[in-house]
Amino acid sequence: FARYFTAPLLRYPQQNYLMSQSDSVDEDVQAFLPDQDQLHTYDDLTKVNPVTPTTVLKCLQARYRMKVFYTHAGCTLVALNPFQSIPDLYSLDVMKEYHCAPQPQEFKPHIFIVAEKAYRNVRSQLEPVDQSLVVSGESGAGKTWTSRCLMKYYATVAASSSVLKSQNTVKRIERRVLDSNSLMEPFGNACTLRNHNSSRFGKYIQLQLDRCQLLVGASVQTYLLEKTRVSCQPANERNFHIFYQVTHQASTCSNISYIFYCLTEDCFQDTVEAMDHLGINAEKQQQIFRILAGILHLGNLGFSSSVDESQPCNLDEKAKAAELLCVSAEDLQTCLRVQTLRAGKQNMLKPCSQAQCIVRRDCLAKLIYAQLFEWLVIFINKSICADKFSWCNFIGVLDVYGFECFHINNLEQLCINYANEKLQQHFVAHYLKAQQDYVSEGLEWSFIKYQDNQSCLDLIEGSPLSVFSLLNEESRLNRDSDARALKVRLEKELCGNANISWHKFSQVPHFTVAHYAGKVSYQLEGMVEKNKDPVPPELISLLQKSDNQLLQQMFSQHQTENSTKGLSKVTVVSKFKNSLESLMKILHATTPHYTRCIKPNPECKPLMFKKQEVVVQLEACGIVEAIHISAAGFPVRISFKSFVQCYGLITKYSKSGSVRVGKYSLLKRFTLESLESQRKRILSGCAFSIQCCWRRYQERRRR
Ligand code: ATP
Ligand code: MG
Repeated sequence: FARYFTAPLLRYPQQNYLMSQSDSVDEDVQAFLPDQDQLHTYDDLTKVNPVTPTTVLKCLQARYRMKVFYTHAGCTLVALNPFQSIPDLYSLDVMKEYHCAPQPQEFKPHIFIVAEKAYRNVRSQLEPVDQSLVVSGESGAGKTWTSRCLMKYYATVAASSSVLKSQNTVKRIERRVLDSNSLMEPFGNACTLRNHNSSRFGKYIQLQLDRCQLLVGASVQTYLLEKTRVSCQPANERNFHIFYQVTHQASTCSNISYIFYCLTEDCFQDTVEAMDHLGINAEKQQQIFRILAGILHLGNLGFSSSVDESQPCNLDEKAKAAELLCVSAEDLQTCLRVQTLRAGKQNMLKPCSQAQCIVRRDCLAKLIYAQLFEWLVIFINKSICADKFSWCNFIGVLDVYGFECFHINNLEQLCINYANEKLQQHFVAHYLKAQQDYVSEGLEWSFIKYQDNQSCLDLIEGSPLSVFSLLNEESRLNRDSDARALKVRLEKELCGNANISWHKFSQVPHFTVAHYAGKVSYQLEGMVEKNKDPVPPELISLLQKSDNQLLQQMFSQHQTENSTKGLSKVTVVSKFKNSLESLMKILHATTPHYTRCIKPNPECKPLMFKKQEVVVQLEACGIVEAIHISAAGFPVRISFKSFVQCYGLITKYSKSGSVRVGKYSLLKRFTLESLESQRKRILSGCAFSIQCCWRRYQERRRR
């Protein structure tokens, strides 16, 4: 494998680029780019000469001004968020154009080129290859929007051919795959300071294709829902959309004062419609809405400061919450106000303090919501997943939360940023480390420097000593003042890693990680507790006794899960690390296609391009290094076997001859482009006979 046959398509003077501090974005690029009026015409950033952050930035800015939002950057696509709807940019006709074009890459850069390339790639080699479309970028950059476009594209082009002809028909499975998005978004997205529709969970959706490359199903994997948002939202941010939708709709909750996210009923109707399409019947829907209303009433429960167990909490709210969750009001009160302690084989009951009651109340709300979300994902998968014999390949679309750095960062941000480090490592391994292959192949190559984030990953997840391993140890020890203890251990054990540091004079226990995208300080207060994510068993027993069938179902599974694992508590970071590792395995087994979404301004305003904001994002994703390598490198890699299989028909290549001889004799005669056009010519000649064979084969199968 890994012999590269084509000469670089574009060669430009190599800069050995490393962005220096002095490389100001306001630097006058007049000297570099004499044809500034034409900057917007550069469809591929590899054509910019020289490639520097400044020139790349100027080019993107010029294109943005001209309302051109997509630009190739060698092997990746840069998508600038227009923050306004662009008529006809994603229409059915445009899809058709890209799908039917013999060479879509000759068209204007578009997310549909990436989609179509992946679609054709599935079957372009000897063995079909699964594909992954990785969409990355910071919060509000347009990842979810882009993922939706990709899914709509496949739901259209991979549906039966009649879909392309008519304007409004999408077949049942395609409709349901799209509806899975419409259902997960209200439950998993929220309005934040950075994005009014921010995804608070990660998502990898595999679109399942049959032998004819038709979409026959899909499966969704979700990652780390930010469930703390249910009970506590950062200042000026909101809870998950679904709560505003139901409170707007349901008269039972009309006395709860919220600023509605959805000012019209349309959003709620969309959610209900998606539920209908996915097969959640009216009865189940009612159960879901009751649970949501129950959670909201739980949030209104107050507790007196007395430690006397008999002291009632807010009676009205307690009764409403209990009624909506279909549990006894007495049981609800007891399980929030009294904890069961194990002493040897005996259980002891201990009244909780006011603060403990609040923690237990919030824990109950988060537990129910997280379990409801999980139930929805399982239900969606049952509804859209094709049976294993009817599909053979998939195209995966990955939409995970972007890199986050707030004023106060906790375990959630650590996990999110860790996920981004993992994806960056995948990108680095796939594109930037390819240079090492060139050298080992004996090709003449002057090395382009890039930032390898392996040492940062070692710091976070490595073994035996890393932030995660120490955090897990501390979580198992169960001692008081764990934040300070963890700080001491981190300082002692990890001081040798250059990626971790501490502000010497800070009074708050914290640590700072130098991520590939910038430094982030994480506060240690509460981190151990969040990692343990303890759930008092009384809460689970309460929900298991609920008369709400759905709650019962959700928590009966909960118990089986725990009992099969022998009640060994898996920490949040270990669970997350495992799920990311399986994701990485899938990504490594597929051909990746990267789309980098860029947010042109933090205000989310149309046609506003803030250079400083954009350059930070370009730097964070290593786009300039990737352009250099794409421009100077060898963009096409095909195994000997596939190459000969693909192009052997052009020459009089003898099957008995060695693969290498076949390859070289082809290369002597043709360039890659002429090879491709020759192949197409021959293949179109064969098309008729292939169609006949295919029809005959199908007839035989039918018989
Ligand atoms: P987060 O990480 O917070 O989930 P995100 O990267 O998924 O953010 P999106 O929700 O996809 O961001 O995009 C934010 C908003 O930007 C969208 O709600 C939409 O209004 C706008 N937007 C994004 N891409 C486009 C586009 N191609 N055309 C028009 N508007 C867009
Ligand atoms: Mg999103």
